[in-house]
Amino acid sequence: MRTVQGEGPSLGRHCAFVRLGGCNLGCTWCDTPYTWDWTGAGDSGTAWDPRAELHAMPWRDVAERLRAFRVPLVVVSGGEPLNQQRRLVPLLRDLNASGHAVEIETNGTVMPSPEVSETVRFNVSPKLAHSGEPEGRRIVPDALAALAVLPGTAFKFVCQRPEDLDEVAELTRYLGGAPVWIMPAARSRDELDRTLASLGDAVVARGWNLTTRLHIAVWGNRRGI
Ligand code: SF4
Repeated sequence: MRTVQGEGPSLGRHCAFVRLGGCNLGCTWCDTPYTWDWTGAGDSGTAWDPRAELHAMPWRDVAERLRAFRVPLVVVSGGEPLNQQRRLVPLLRDLNASGHAVEIETNGTVMPSPEVSETVRFNVSPKLAHSGEPEGRRIVPDALAALAVLPGTAFKFVCQRPEDLDEVAELTRYLGGAPVWIMPAARSRDELDRTLASLGDAVVARGWNLTTRLHIAVWGNRRGI
């Protein structure tokens, strides 16, 4: 769909999103459970139907639909898009050839291939303990280190309260000095206002970047924007 990037270093940029199905994690508070939760394991308790939620499309058709939006930036998100990275390569190269910048949103647990890395910029969002995932699944040091050295990579941590920043600080040892962004965990405007305000001073004190969730502020918890 055509929209604006709602989070992180490209906040507010006119763009189109490609959302891929499937994820190798299952965060309890995930705001896109319809991309992977076929059993109702997440907070929503809903078992989504993959036959209704997933639509296979040839990459050339995806590229044509994206070009029709006439946007300068394409954001590939999920789920976890790097689970399908080999299949993404022709689409990413085609978008580059038509002058599009491309960003991939990833949870940082999958090693990026050179073919993908040379075509995109990564927004990496490693998950904290409050995701409900054990550390051994959500933190993959080799993948984080590989992503950290790529040009333009930004790390974006979803935080619920200022105490979460201590956990982020621990993880910076894997990030090689790449920029850190803190984003409030929020699925409604009220939650966004409250959590952003609670985090602001502590993020500034750490010398990190702070991002809102612009799509929540503008449209609330609506799907498809
Ligand atoms: S990694 Fe992202 S898409 Fe996957 S379950 Fe967690 S929040 Fe949802």
